[in-house]
Amino acid sequence: MSVINEAMTSKEMLDILVAKNMEDAREAKKRGDLVCWSSSIAPCEFTEAMGIYTVYPENHVVGIVARKGAQELLTYAESKGYSNDICGYARVNLAYMDIQKCISEELPLPDLILLCNNICETLLKWYENIAYSLNVPLLILDVPYNHDSEVSEENIKYVESQLHDMIHQLELICHKSFDYKKFEEVMEIASQNAKNWYDATALCSVKPSPLSGFDMFNYMALIVCMRGKRECGITFRKLKEELIEKIKRGECGLRGAEEKYRIMWDGIACWPYLSHTYKVLKNQGVNMTGSTYPSAWTLLYTPGNLKEMARAYTSMGNNLSLEGQINLRKRIIRETCCDGIVMHMNRSCKMCDFLQYEIGQALKNDLNIPITTFDGDQADPRNYSKAQYETRIEALVEIMSVIKQKESESK
Ligand code: SF4
Repeated sequence: MSVINEAMTSKEMLDILVAKNMEDAREAKKRGDLVCWSSSIAPCEFTEAMGIYTVYPENHVVGIVARKGAQELLTYAESKGYSNDICGYARVNLAYMDIQKCISEELPLPDLILLCNNICETLLKWYENIAYSLNVPLLILDVPYNHDSEVSEENIKYVESQLHDMIHQLELICHKSFDYKKFEEVMEIASQNAKNWYDATALCSVKPSPLSGFDMFNYMALIVCMRGKRECGITFRKLKEELIEKIKRGECGLRGAEEKYRIMWDGIACWPYLSHTYKVLKNQGVNMTGSTYPSAWTLLYTPGNLKEMARAYTSMGNNLSLEGQINLRKRIIRETCCDGIVMHMNRSCKMCDFLQYEIGQALKNDLNIPITTFDGDQADPRNYSKAQYETRIEALVEIMSVIKQKESESK
């Protein structure tokens, strides 16, 4: 029986489902059923089809960071030799693996690990460390980086062959035959959920946008943790209905403020200061309408077709070439009508940062759009300055207001 029903709001559904996913994994662990730790854009379709309870360390770390409990774990990780230049998600999770205590929910330790390096290579070393320390199997979907604008056929073949191998490996781990019927069913659900996620978040293109990108950051937990489950799609359909109602009423996603400017946020949220980063923007009437997150989980393929699945996991956002990353952002900026860009220079995430300067230059030159940057971190509270953020946003708003003024004068 489902724990959600149509009378609930999408926010109520979200809270219940994310908590239940974790609770189910804890219960499974107690019963002796298999629990998997997975990276955020890995093929959960396989573990789901085999009835393996799958949880997500990145999401768990966000819960710890948002409750201001990261510092203790970061200090512990550093005492073990992990430099604070390494991804904060990895440091907090590796510390949690040792200590198994945190301010947030208990995350049961894994019996196996699933990883796809389509988001970054840090994951590879991070998850190898977990597998080595806990002596559990590590399933890797190795996705080559796309240096060209198109994903090559060789790369797709290489990734597809690993998908077939994953089936074999899971049969050995689970001591049972792969459930192809369930697999196709989950593929169907996951693909539909990806579409529902995109459809709801795409409503940010409406003026004023009924959704703030900061609320989208929260809904993201569901597409990360429950992409293979039907309830995920029900929640996003409900969210879409709610947003359509808000559009009819002319309401914007900023709580208690009018939308004057629209920006694209480039990079991961600054989770330790989510509220501060949101309020500074809101106080100036700035709504975050553009983000790369809606497309990051838009993994679309025909159920049963492993070649298309291989292409989907290979061609998602972080794995795109520089040209692909620039074009993706141009599309987002146009579709969601952004007046400016805020780039989070995230000390933890080298993957996010290493192309950011060149992407910024290309967007500025080709779209003539103002950009500001700020130093921050998605997990480590020590790498952020409230004063710097406030000054940078103030400067961006000044430029956006001058541009708007000129535009209205020229009409
Ligand atoms: S935050 Fe960046 S470095 Fe860390 S796991 Fe995610 S993509 Fe990789």
